[in-house]
Amino acid sequence: MISMDDKSVTANGRSYALPRQPVVVLCIDGCEPEYLNQAISAGCMPYVAELRQRGLCLTADCVVPSFTNPNNLSIVTGVPPSVHGICGNYFWDRDAGAEVMMNDPKYLRTGTLLAALADGGAKVAVVTAKDKLRALLGHGLSGICFSAEKAADAQLATHGIDDVPRRVGMEVPSVYSAGLSEFVFAAGVRLMRSERPDIMYLSTTDYVQHKAAPGTDAANDFYAMMDGYLHALDAEGAVIVLTADHGMNAKTDAFGRPNIVYLQDLLDRTHGAGTTRVILPITDPYVVHHGALGSFATVYLSGPVDVMAASRSIAAVAGIDAVLGREEACVRFELPPDRVGDLVVISERLSVIGTSRDRHDLSGLDAPLRSHGGVSEQQVPIIANRPGRALPVGRRWRNFDAFDLALNYL
Ligand SMILES: [Zn+2]
Repeated sequence: MISMDDKSVTANGRSYALPRQPVVVLCIDGCEPEYLNQAISAGCMPYVAELRQRGLCLTADCVVPSFTNPNNLSIVTGVPPSVHGICGNYFWDRDAGAEVMMNDPKYLRTGTLLAALADGGAKVAVVTAKDKLRALLGHGLSGICFSAEKAADAQLATHGIDDVPRRVGMEVPSVYSAGLSEFVFAAGVRLMRSERPDIMYLSTTDYVQHKAAPGTDAANDFYAMMDGYLHALDAEGAVIVLTADHGMNAKTDAFGRPNIVYLQDLLDRTHGAGTTRVILPITDPYVVHHGALGSFATVYLSGPVDVMAASRSIAAVAGIDAVLGREEACVRFELPPDRVGDLVVISERLSVIGTSRDRHDLSGLDAPLRSHGGVSEQQVPIIANRPGRALPVGRRWRNFDAFDLALNYL
């Protein structure tokens, strides 16, 4: 999987030049391009605005399902889920007859390029907002890796660093706050000044993006905060590439009421209870801000339901964008077939998919529902603070080309 010479490292079939100056790749969770457009127009991002003259801006496609973990893992491995195996937060283990959470590194089918670069001699640091990603991002990595959420628990032996809140100069924020992402940026700047890693990966949380639309005060405040930290990283001489794990859209009608297709209820009515199982791979232990509702679902057929009949009944429902069989879905979206159901269902831009009405607690939603997961959230920005050289013409950029861009083209 991994080979190296003194100038480059090959990981998962792709070659990366070893960095000559510090490289920072940031994954801004839920960063629909419009957040940046609006914040720049409002004068909230003077540093990023300046990159129009001396940097680079591309539009890239993320991995579908446009969820956090599949995309973060794609960015740090440089390959899609068909190779690394992480295609959501959950899959249905048919043999075990149980929903299995995929945030354990044992589900990762390949090494990360972060680990490869560290093995090639680079000093690597990783900071993630939520702890659910830490073990996956840090798998096999000799270097620094901790989450903002559990920053106080970081130990030298296990995380490559300790005493993090004091070093960063911030209290550990609530997991449901803009502060959790700010801690990631602040830690990144502090690490750049104190440790000067060759490679740093910073991954935030989409708490703000789930609540606040582009151009709102809360969104612009977040991006203004981010702009300051990006400027500070630039001032330290870092090559910066910023991208996103996925976009974000309002999933409501014009009154702000959520458009929800309760897919399990629908299938139970049409084909009988117990014949199908709907899995929502967005489901995770932190559901308050989206009620476990996203635009991607996978359906396992267990009874005498035929695939065509189930597809037809789902496709006929308002709000559904596409219903694909496993094979077609896995080819189109580069997913691992053994972790995908018989059907993949994607909803339209303004709609989300639920299981059964009684399984979603919407009481925690204190703002009109915004979410992601579908093809409608696939386009994300890639911004760099260098203009790039010899960029391939007409290339379809993916967010998981971020390290390729940073190391091979800037
Ligand atoms: Zn995300």
